Amino acid sequence: MEMIKANNLAFEYIRRDDDGNVEGITRALDGVSLTVEEGDFVAILGHNGSGKSTVAKEINAILSPTEGTLFVDGMDTRDADKIWNIRQSAGMVFQNPDNQIIASVVEEDVAFGPENLGVPTEDIWKRVEESLKAVGMLKFRFHSPNKLSGGQKQRIAIAGIMAMKPKCIVLDEPTAMLDPEGRKEVIRTLHELNKKEKVTVLLITHYMDEVVGADKVIVMDDGKIVMQGSPKQVFSRVEEMKAHALDVPQVTELAYELRKEGIPLPKDIITVEEFNAAIEKIYRQG
Ligand code: ADP
Ligand code: MG
Repeated sequence: MEMIKANNLAFEYIRRDDDGNVEGITRALDGVSLTVEEGDFVAILGHNGSGKSTVAKEINAILSPTEGTLFVDGMDTRDADKIWNIRQSAGMVFQNPDNQIIASVVEEDVAFGPENLGVPTEDIWKRVEESLKAVGMLKFRFHSPNKLSGGQKQRIAIAGIMAMKPKCIVLDEPTAMLDPEGRKEVIRTLHELNKKEKVTVLLITHYMDEVVGADKVIVMDDGKIVMQGSPKQVFSRVEEMKAHALDVPQVTELAYELRKEGIPLPKDIITVEEFNAAIEKIYRQG
């Protein structure tokens, strides 16, 4: 089953002056076709201004396609009657956890979403408990969110979405404001939710090291999809990645430089473990 399906999606931001005359048009998305299958962990990677947030807003039906179509869980995002169903199927998590946390006690914050959906009270508390447990934050349920670290706050925001039982979570640069430890916590949590709770994950990021564990990586530049494949397939194309103003993981870069010096390392090294194993093999043979 296709969770998200974009077909030749285009979006133009139109700027107008006070009289309503068009001053300028930015074609933020230009012929984007992509598929996210139910249960997948897909990452969208791209430098600033490549169109990532516009994709997220299209999926959330905040923006409507200028051209092409976008279906979320089988629903056409142009269909105004489906907006709330679409937003329940695909929950959104944004950059700044402080803008997403509203209550003064963690469990109340997580309860807010299901309360708004009209979930019966006893079910709400069950969902709150399950969601906090799923993101590893149950022991903080009676705490004030203010005192938590950035990574913990973002996990609370994710629990708040999970409590609404979405089929899919879309995260737009959820780690951009976090320290390295907080970033790792959040990415680890997303992989756990994907594996254990079977929730489909669409992770938007400009940190290449966060996409290493994804099933599929989609690279965007200038409103278009320019590369697509497994992390190994995408990262092994080091020069192409650089041409799109993106890095590859440090070990991939190192292997790339060593290969240029004549050391026969494989092209698809993306983890330190793979690097070490490849080096060991060469030394054994040599
Ligand atoms: P990203 O999230 O990858 O940084 P965006 O989707 O935010 O990219 O932006 C894509 C393009 O659309 C950029 O050229 C950006 O300047 C432009 N853009 C984004 N939001 C607006 C807006 N509200 N009005 C006009 N142009 C916009
Ligand atoms: Mg963005």
